[in-house]
Amino acid sequence: MSAEQDGTPAARLARRARQVVPGGVNSGQRSIPGLTDLVVTGTAGARFRTADGREFTDFHAAFGPPLLGHNDPDVARATEEAGRSLGHMGVGITEGEVHLAEQLAELIPSVEKLLLTSTGSEATFHALRVARAATGRRLIVKFQGCYHGWHDAVSLNVISAPEKVGGHDPISTGILPEVLAATLVLPFNDSEAVRSAFAEHGQDIAAVIVEPVPHNVGALLPHQEFLRTLREETTKAGSVLVFDEVITGFRHDLGGWQRISGVTPDLTTLGKAIANGAPVAALGGRADLMDLFSTTPGAPAFFAGTYNGHPSVVAAALATLRKLREEPVHEHVFRLGDRVRRELTALYDRLGVPAVVTGYGSVFVTYFMPGFTPDAPPRTYRDLLANDASLFVGYRRHLTEHGLFELPLNLKRSHISYAHTDADIDRLLEGTEAAVGAAL
Ligand code: PLP
Repeated sequence: MSAEQDGTPAARLARRARQVVPGGVNSGQRSIPGLTDLVVTGTAGARFRTADGREFTDFHAAFGPPLLGHNDPDVARATEEAGRSLGHMGVGITEGEVHLAEQLAELIPSVEKLLLTSTGSEATFHALRVARAATGRRLIVKFQGCYHGWHDAVSLNVISAPEKVGGHDPISTGILPEVLAATLVLPFNDSEAVRSAFAEHGQDIAAVIVEPVPHNVGALLPHQEFLRTLREETTKAGSVLVFDEVITGFRHDLGGWQRISGVTPDLTTLGKAIANGAPVAALGGRADLMDLFSTTPGAPAFFAGTYNGHPSVVAAALATLRKLREEPVHEHVFRLGDRVRRELTALYDRLGVPAVVTGYGSVFVTYFMPGFTPDAPPRTYRDLLANDASLFVGYRRHLTEHGLFELPLNLKRSHISYAHTDADIDRLLEGTEAAVGAAL
């Protein structure tokens, strides 16, 4: 039998993929040990199906977008209708784009004006570009554990080995050393480190960019005082404060974490749950900064994108927002999230496994380490170095045997959607107990 004919249809397709798609997947974040033959054939609500005939209840949720559940019928209908009636012209503007910007300006405290992009990376890229254009300064500040996309200024110090924390840890080759040197990396939740950086470099700092809740390493809940320090120091120094709300936006609150915390940044990046899975993201903020983009005639900061404001994804965002505003989505996912965190905490106590279950709203994560509680959770990336990564990944691998899916990658958070039910949570709790038992 030739290699091509070997194995199940799913394995054959995955092998064909590896012939023509480097590594067989279209994102480095999908290159996951043990998941090389995952071929998805359908999604609906809280579930997905694979080419080898299995069905999973999904708690990974595509890294976060489908807050309403996969393939929400109202969002799908709106997307299809816009595709049929509008296609994409790429000149002028459509009513949907205006309506979307108006709603986001109404909902999100920092947003006076807003531009659409296709991805969150483009939004954070342009936030930093316009901050440099506005200030004429060079330096960017980011925090260990935060991820802001794939571009050079921020491609460092997300998940770092212990010896790299506190230094520079590029997640990619191919970045100019001077670009890496222009990004300062500070510990999250450390106000003193922020004050020192501003005392030393304040007049060179163009922007501070932060995930207000660093969800790319699970969930590090911010001290309110830390976010206030960011606001005070950037204001004093004339630097631009960027909240990257690509995950927290819409999922935690329609007004983002800035509405929850009462700390208003200068610029905000949005994505993921904005359109329940359609490829659209946004950058919004103070009008004087947003007016520096070249969409305003003669303005200096170049901004473009063939697919920006594509009618199908705009329609998806509008349909998503309508549902988030009109239905008790947050109430539902927050209730289930609280239940998962509470009952998983009780489970680990009963099993005698040192663990802390944390998160916010619909997001949950269990770190396997002693010394923390839900009321005193880990707050910095350094705290997470004690997490038992092999148990974290191992139990998630075993979960798949129970038809449950949480991403088997260290430190990744899990998500609950409007489509999940209490019965799904019952199954998750039972499956987790068995999977942790098998992984120990
Ligand atoms: N910012 C945050 C907080 C993210 O989590 C991500 C993606 O995971 C991005 C930006 C980049 O978004 P995208 O993958 O759409 O480029």
